[in-house]
Amino acid sequence: MENKIFTIYKKLLKAFGYQNWWPVHQGVDRFLEVSIGAILTQNTNWSNVEKAIENLIKENLLEWDVLTDVETKKLEKLIKPAGFYRQKAGYIKNFVNAVKNKPREDITRDFLLSLKGIGEETADSILLYGLDRPYFVVDAYTKRLFYRAGIINSSKIKYPQLQKLITDNIPQDLEIYKEYHALIVELGKNYCKKKPVCGNCPIKNICQQNLK
Ligand code: SF4
Repeated sequence: MENKIFTIYKKLLKAFGYQNWWPVHQGVDRFLEVSIGAILTQNTNWSNVEKAIENLIKENLLEWDVLTDVETKKLEKLIKPAGFYRQKAGYIKNFVNAVKNKPREDITRDFLLSLKGIGEETADSILLYGLDRPYFVVDAYTKRLFYRAGIINSSKIKYPQLQKLITDNIPQDLEIYKEYHALIVELGKNYCKKKPVCGNCPIKNICQQNLK
């Protein structure tokens, strides 16, 4: 019998189509833009990140050397729409300085996690979408969905546990990892919100919360 975790993926893909994450601007180094976006998106929503990224693009700042040299005050001002801008400017500066001259094959998960401000979700987003490495990204939407769907017993499950549960139950395929996380975000934004909107949800027929 097919497992529920992969069934949810297929239903979401059918309902929403391919999301083709991570959106990056033409001419910008994907690894750099994904990394900056992953740091900026901490504790805020994506539309605020987009505004901050647009500001950086307008000022031609999305380049490794330029970001290294830019004054912290200027960087703070440009990324302000994403919130926590002082903290995030520090994380960005630190990240760029640590990574700029490092061979990409040496950029491991442990290395990223050793950097200030880079937690598991941010590291895995950078690895998956910036460097095409097979690390599944777990976020608050993922925990909420799998808890409500009856796949996990607690929404307080630890990151590595849920990550392993998911990757053990889907094909080890980079594109599926990329799409599945993006599809979960789409579901979380539109249906599986804090207050769920189950009526037209594409997985309502197999979601435990809705079947209660
Ligand atoms: S049916 Fe409701 S609770 Fe279940 S995934 Fe959809 S929106 Fe969330």
